Parts: sequence; structure tokens; C-alpha cells
Amino acid sequence: MTEVRVLVIEDEEPLADSIKYNLELEGYQVEVAHGGNAGLRKFKEQEPSLVLLDVMLPEISGLDLCRMMRAESDVPIIMITARDSEADKVAGLELGADDYVTKPFSMRELLARVRANLRRLGMESGIFDLDQELLEGGPVRLDVGRHEVTVDGDPVQLRPREFELLVAFLRNQGMLMTRDRLISEVWGMDYFGDTKTLDVHIKRVRKKIEPDPKQPRYLVTVRGLGYKYVDD
Ligand code: CA
Repeated sequence: MTEVRVLVIEDEEPLADSIKYNLELEGYQVEVAHGGNAGLRKFKEQEPSLVLLDVMLPEISGLDLCRMMRAESDVPIIMITARDSEADKVAGLELGADDYVTKPFSMRELLARVRANLRRLGMESGIFDLDQELLEGGPVRLDVGRHEVTVDGDPVQLRPREFELLVAFLRNQGMLMTRDRLISEVWGMDYFGDTKTLDVHIKRVRKKIEPDPKQPRYLVTVRGLGYKYVDD
């Protein structure tokens, strides 16, 4: 079994200790950093499988760290945000974080998020390699096995969750995809976050595939229900 290394960057020491304790009970290897500088150094040394990143940190803010880590790695990043800071959640997701938890959170919730965000590591390790599926819709052509996407013939880089979303849409063209269904297909049944994460990912996919992301032609909203992929 491969070792799963989690890096926890959190300056509240009791919280960091409690997270470490609970993650270790689940069998993860855990490193803790209490500030931005140590966090960045450990990130580079340790090459973690997943990062839990507090937004409010001494030395380097969590948002800046998120941007720096994302510039060199695809590692899943879960932001830890303060309860009232909607702006931080969205900013974190837009900088490339995969998910967030809001303080105060239960350890059960945190562990569920960690598991859900590690699921895609299994996918990268080759479960999908035998999949010869080619999907097409509108300007998009997607090769599931090769993990390649083109839009009007030009290669486009999608992050893992964006890719999984697009696969779900292309496999179900013309059908209503409710938010619940998308979340359970892409993030897993045990995900119990809100739908902001989904909406930010939809926005990112639109930016990459739509001629005019503000007026989507392919990945359209079905008001009050969810989304639908149409090939016009
Ligand atoms: Ca903090």
C-alpha cells in the first residue's frame, strides 16, 4: 500500500495537533507546519499527497501559498477558512484549491473531505488507463484514457476535477445533471460540502471550453435544477 502524506499548514497549534492525531489514526503520514515559510519549505521537501491549508497564516498568507503550490503541483489542496469569510472561500477555489472546510468543523467532516479529495489519486494511478473511451460534444473532444482534451482542435489543460466533470457531462449529453448528481459523481457520495465548490468548478470548465464563458452555449444552466451539456 502506498504511503499517503498529508501536510497540515495551520498556526493554531491545538487545532493542528488534533488534525494530525485524527489523520494518523486513519493511517496517514502527517507533517505539520505552523507558519507560511515552514509550510512552503515542507511542501517542497515532502511532496505531500494532499495539503490542508489555513487561510490566515503568519509570514505568507494561505491564499499566496495556494497560488505558489499550484504553480508547481497538482496536489489536492483543501483550504481551511474562517466561518464568515465567503470571499476567502471563493478566492481559494479560484486560485486552484480543490475544496475548503469552514472553522469550526468536525473531525468527521474533515476526514470525509480528505478521503473524497484523495479519491482522484487512485484514478491517476492507472485505473482508467485501459479506458479507450473517446467523447465528443460541441467543440470538445475528450480522450478518457489519455486524459487529453481539445477544444476546436487546440489542446486544453484541465485540472482533475474539471476533467471528471466534463466526462460526466459528455457521457450524459442533453440530460439534466442535478447538482447532487454531479457532486456525487465527481466528489463522491460522502461529500457533504455546499455547492459553491461545484459552481466554481463549472465556471472554470466554462472558461476553458466556451467561446463566451459569460453566455455558455454548451455547458448551460438549468435554472434551479442544475446543468446540462448541449451540442447545438
Ligand atoms: Ca490561522
